[in-house]
Amino acid sequence: MKIFFWLFFLLSFCLSNHVMAQSKNLNQSFAIAVHGGAGSLKTMNLSPEQEKAYKDTLALALQAGYNILKNGGTSVDAVQATINVLENSPLFNAGRGSVLTHKGTVEMDAAIMDGNTLKAGAVAGVRTIKNPISAARKILDSSKFILLSGKGAEEFATKHGLEIVDTSYFVTEFRKKQLEKIINSDTVVLDHTDTTGMILPGDNKEGDKFGTVGCVALDQFGNLAAGTSTGGLVNKKFNRIGDSPLIGCGTYANNKSCAISCTGKGEDFIRLVVAHDISSLMLYKHKSLKQASKKVIMEKLVEIGGRGGCICIDKKGNIEMPFNTEGMFRGSIDKKGKVEVMIY
Ligand code: ASP
Repeated sequence: MKIFFWLFFLLSFCLSNHVMAQSKNLNQSFAIAVHGGAGSLKTMNLSPEQEKAYKDTLALALQAGYNILKNGGTSVDAVQATINVLENSPLFNAGRGSVLTHKGTVEMDAAIMDGNTLKAGAVAGVRTIKNPISAARKILDSSKFILLSGKGAEEFATKHGLEIVDTSYFVTEFRKKQLEKIINSDTVVLDHTDTTGMILPGDNKEGDKFGTVGCVALDQFGNLAAGTSTGGLVNKKFNRIGDSPLIGCGTYANNKSCAISCTGKGEDFIRLVVAHDISSLMLYKHKSLKQASKKVIMEKLVEIGGRGGCICIDKKGNIEMPFNTEGMFRGSIDKKGKVEVMIY
């Protein structure tokens, strides 16, 4: 009998210590931000109904992630859940709404990173995985690799029980028309581009718009996470891969600095290693999130003709969403619970 008493005592002691340790780690601040692409959005001439549809979907996605954070879930879970909502919507260039390649297929890229452990997972050029960000997450959790591509990534996803769909699931009428307009030209354009004008990335003219989606979050444990998912560029060829699945370029998270998800012409973001550059300015030059993100997006990127933006969050829950384009689909729920969804 005595032994049971002591066992019970020991168990209660361990449990209360565990709970105390957990609550000690609890950071009261939690917050989340999302983007759905940047660019010359005014030329899209969105009707009030369309604007509402974009904003409602962003708000829904934000709420999905925020609920997880509010209930003590992790930032990685929140980022994944938020991006899943946007991947399932045909409005954004990710998952279901992905743009089409020159061959009329989709090739999607995604990445997710945990700022606490620096673990990351990413997929590139996948065609049948319903939610590429979920595949990236599976890689983060259970693979010794970080970036899987094409058929191998799909094999991994199948093996891990992720939802696989027919390629026709991704091909929407809107995307077919978008491709038809430029398929005979040797050009690639960014999502939402006014294809009648056939403005090319790098032309430096207006007309470039990017529909990639991304999310960054800070959870109650003080951990940061970032994720990005995209269909890439319209009419892309040769299995082109953008910045989104490249850790440090379009996606990065580090508890010591910040979490970042980018959108824009991937090639420029790769050249400048944009996400890691923002983090490095904070780490080595002790810049604030605002200063670091502004420097890279509004100065360094502009200097090389790069267009786009990013969302980022630091460990205090500060959020910055700079863009050097006309607009960026974006939203946030800050540490005070204030919800904002904006386009321009
Ligand atoms: N960054 C993406 C890419 O280059 C495009 C986008 O942001 O829409 O693949």
